[in-house]
Amino acid sequence: MGLEKEMANVAAGLGLATLLAAPLAAAQEKPRWYKGNTHTHTINTDGDSSPIDVVRFYRDQGYNFLVLSDHDSITPTEGLNAIFGTAAANATDRTALPFRPFMLIPGEEVTDAFTPEPRAGQDPKARDLGRKEIHLTGLNVARVVARQKGNSPADTLQRDVDAIRAASGVPIVNHPNFVWSLTADDLKPLRRAPLLEIWNGHMQTNNLGGGDRPSVESMWDEVLSAGTMMYGVAADDAHFFKTPPLPSAPSAPGRAYVMVRSDSFTAAALVEAMERGDFYSSTGVELSDYAVGPAGVTLKVSAAGLSRYRVLFIGRGGRVLKTVDVTPAPPVGATSLLAPRQAEAVAYEWKGDEGYVRAKIIDSNGLMAWTQPVVVPRP
Ligand SMILES: [Zn+2]
Ligand SMILES: [Zn+2]
Repeated sequence: MGLEKEMANVAAGLGLATLLAAPLAAAQEKPRWYKGNTHTHTINTDGDSSPIDVVRFYRDQGYNFLVLSDHDSITPTEGLNAIFGTAAANATDRTALPFRPFMLIPGEEVTDAFTPEPRAGQDPKARDLGRKEIHLTGLNVARVVARQKGNSPADTLQRDVDAIRAASGVPIVNHPNFVWSLTADDLKPLRRAPLLEIWNGHMQTNNLGGGDRPSVESMWDEVLSAGTMMYGVAADDAHFFKTPPLPSAPSAPGRAYVMVRSDSFTAAALVEAMERGDFYSSTGVELSDYAVGPAGVTLKVSAAGLSRYRVLFIGRGGRVLKTVDVTPAPPVGATSLLAPRQAEAVAYEWKGDEGYVRAKIIDSNGLMAWTQPVVVPRP
């Protein structure tokens, strides 16, 4: 399928179909937001804690779903769901859900690499400087997916994506800047890979780029601008639950997550919602409202404490289309400094030449959220 056509199909599937369906959906129950982390390790591979301790952490912190993504293996979820999953973990009827539902979704981090041909005189045991780490999370995979190996980074990625799909899973391309492994050019040709980690909580994944390498967010804009639709995922990649969560702790939990909008609370429904971009990613900023309409997008920040916010609307090429400063106000007549504040809704109206529009929200304490790119209809 040509890129143009694929983008058009994505547009139809994402914006327009949602819009057309909206009046019908209004008669049904409102979908609900679920908080989840798609990338976690346990003692079964290189984490420091048992699956039970890891799951307890996320459940107690108010998450609704968790993917244990151990390297090249699936940590079984059935027993954990029997202990920690809420009774209605597989219910499609929302009215039957407990107040704070929780479930585990099966997963695996397919841990592949591309190593160039050894150079003359190189110690065969030495790790090649040109080695690329190529890791993908397989969401809701039905069986263990073996790393596929390929003849280039892009080829390796595509083979792993296809293998995850063959195991009924949905792939996420993880931490492209880990060991400076992937570039936007490696991602542009990818097919059937709608999800990209744009923020990884592990302190060695170089989210912000540096030197001669772009940030992962810039790479994301480059990929989108080339016509490949990928939705941005933020995830913990947590390994260490026992060390204190100092800034230097390499991969503590709770740093990055997704908020997924779904009608029903099943693993399939949550993963499908991610695949169609019905979620946003966050390191702590939450939204009380987000809607894509025929004329543009509106969102409302859920104000926390005394934080103030800056909302950037970003289009093709990473161009900042509009910046809105948000100062949440206390309720009228409030006398306490700590009275919960309300943020005004923020809107962006399509102009028609943006290519796509996504929003990034930055809180005055450094926390962030990212909404998904929406293809702008041409006038
Ligand atoms: Zn990894
Ligand atoms: Zn990992």
